[in-house]
Amino acid sequence: MDSERLLRQFEQAGFVIVPEEEPLDMAAPDIVALNTCGFIQSAKTESIEAIFTVLEAKKRGLVKKVFVFGCLSQRYRNELPEEIEGVDGFFGADDAEAMLAAAGVKYDPSISLQRHLTTPPHYAFLKISEGCDRSCAYCAIPSIRGRHVSVPMEKLVDEAQLLADKGVKELLLIAQDTTFYGLDLYRKRMLGPLLERLADIKGIEWLRIHYSYPSDFPQDVLEIMAGCDKVCKYLDIPLQHSSSKVLAMMHRGIDGDATRALVDKFRKAVPGIVLRTTMIVGHPGEGVREFRDLLDFVREYRFERLGAFTYSEEENTYGALNYKDSIPKRVKQERYDALMELQSGISLEYNESRVGTVERVLVDSFSDGTVHARSEKESVDVDGEILIPAAAVPAAMQGNFMNVKITAADEYDLTAQFI
Ligand code: SF4
Repeated sequence: MDSERLLRQFEQAGFVIVPEEEPLDMAAPDIVALNTCGFIQSAKTESIEAIFTVLEAKKRGLVKKVFVFGCLSQRYRNELPEEIEGVDGFFGADDAEAMLAAAGVKYDPSISLQRHLTTPPHYAFLKISEGCDRSCAYCAIPSIRGRHVSVPMEKLVDEAQLLADKGVKELLLIAQDTTFYGLDLYRKRMLGPLLERLADIKGIEWLRIHYSYPSDFPQDVLEIMAGCDKVCKYLDIPLQHSSSKVLAMMHRGIDGDATRALVDKFRKAVPGIVLRTTMIVGHPGEGVREFRDLLDFVREYRFERLGAFTYSEEENTYGALNYKDSIPKRVKQERYDALMELQSGISLEYNESRVGTVERVLVDSFSDGTVHARSEKESVDVDGEILIPAAAVPAAMQGNFMNVKITAADEYDLTAQFI
């Protein structure tokens, strides 16, 4: 979204936006602006590799200027300019205006809510707040993005209206912690009222909640989810672990029993809810017993979707300063593999339970004779897809809803027929 606002400013100034997928030797852009991520090692490595790829293209004369912005350049604002030569400017996550100025573009506040969508036109991400007031021991994000700041509700409603006017049907609500929305501005949690306001916008058909935090989860959100057809019965809630000992060391503000009670509450309050979660394996304090607790929890609670990370020690976090990262890399990987193998059986069982059902899907794309679609049970990128033979589906269904019958399933994707 930060990138999309920036692209809109460039577009307004007369630049032609080239899709990221287009090879640099074909596109030969004047400017490449790289939005970098720097919160865990794998993301840092990916960002740095991307910088070097573009710098290589610059050396070959394919790119005139290279700007780097986002979390990585904010986090390492002193080190990066010394260590990487050839970049025309490093900018922090909130330095969009400075970067535009360096490119000779004057920031236009009259289009501040507008975005050049990099997603297909029928869905968009809506960032409802920035920063985080939590203090998870393993996490560098609060030190990079600062304290939690909500976007005023009126502004979000206006932005959502603009997106709906352009044909967006699904909004994916994101933030470092969506459940914290409103606490700074309105002195109370306002995710529920925000959902209600967004659901009133004509054209918006699906609202999907990502990155919610378990401790003090707002009850009204569950009631709205259960009662409002536009709010997907889908919740992305990173739980990170189930062992009380590990959760305490993570500073998550919730223990294992309360985590179990919360998941029970979700299932009871919103029948059929699809839960996506993530877990961290190999965090300090996770011995054999704690890891077994995690496996037992996942086996019992059967999350429809689950991803995992191996613990990566990040400098200057509470964990890095106070814990020993003593679990060998090999053990972390073995635990990751065991957890994901368990989950693959659970995901397969869940997907197979849908065979024979009729589901309403949103068509994302057509490619190679196949329609790629999602139901309210699948989010963008992180979940599998519903694949439908394209021959029977009119091209006009792209970006629209239709009903399909699920005919087969594997652990990731489902196959369906247009009906
Ligand atoms: S809530 Fe999320 S962003 Fe905030 S500190 Fe914890 S893990 Fe990091």
